[in-house]
Amino acid sequence: MHEVSIALSLLNIVVKKCQEEGFHSIESVKVRIGKASGILPEAFAFALEVAKKDTIARDAKFIIDIVPLGGFCSGCARQFEIDEAYILECPLCGSNSFQIQKGYEMEVVEMEVN
Ligand SMILES: [Zn+2]
Repeated sequence: MHEVSIALSLLNIVVKKCQEEGFHSIESVKVRIGKASGILPEAFAFALEVAKKDTIARDAKFIIDIVPLGGFCSGCARQFEIDEAYILECPLCGSNSFQIQKGYEMEVVEMEVN
């Protein structure tokens, strides 16, 4: 359950940022999570719901945006995107000369405060 500690640190960051800017409550937070980040979205969403209770984010809605794993293959010179959490070879041509360009995200994209 490392999602719990990630949820707690994410909450710490957004709560701190909100207070620093003089706001008192958080309405919504949009988070982007890559498929390859190792974070399970369901467990993460649940951890956030539990962790937010004693904070100014208690009424906040957390929107989790999942980013697929994607990259560029120099074997076939194409972009690819897949639903798996990791790949060993290009899903299009089987080459192993590819570069992962997205899918490791774990970031706050948007935040609505009051
Ligand atoms: Zn390829």
